Amino acid sequence: MIKYILKCNKNHEFESWFSNSNEFEKLQQKKLIECIFCHSQKISKSIMSPKILNRNIEKNKINEQNLIQVKKNLLNIKKFVKKNFDYVGDGFTQEVRKIYYNRSKDRNIYGSVTDKDSQELIEEGIELTSIPWVKDDN
Ligand SMILES: [Zn+2]
Repeated sequence: MIKYILKCNKNHEFESWFSNSNEFEKLQQKKLIECIFCHSQKISKSIMSPKILNRNIEKNKINEQNLIQVKKNLLNIKKFVKKNFDYVGDGFTQEVRKIYYNRSKDRNIYGSVTDKDSQELIEEGIELTSIPWVKDDN
């Protein structure tokens, strides 16, 4: 949902909500928007303020600082994993089984695994942890 402050040619200002930025243009072309005060159809957009439609937005307001902190923590986890775990890429499932069934030296590994393989490993009693892999930049 996008909120526009609309203005008529007599400088009356009023707010209106549109599902997207094209909707205003469409309705205006069809002359379906008029000033709520003087019914003028000469309407222009004044200020745009994009909003997210979320009724709990005030309650669950995510503070930007918290997000930065979360990202920082995730980056630290990533750094820790990279430093202390061996990267095995797509061979993860195979390696996990080797370690789990003692065919390979016990070690920490990380890599990628498909949902199907992950499900099979869980059924074999192998617990995996997934970490949100955040990008290093920005
Ligand atoms: Zn007006």
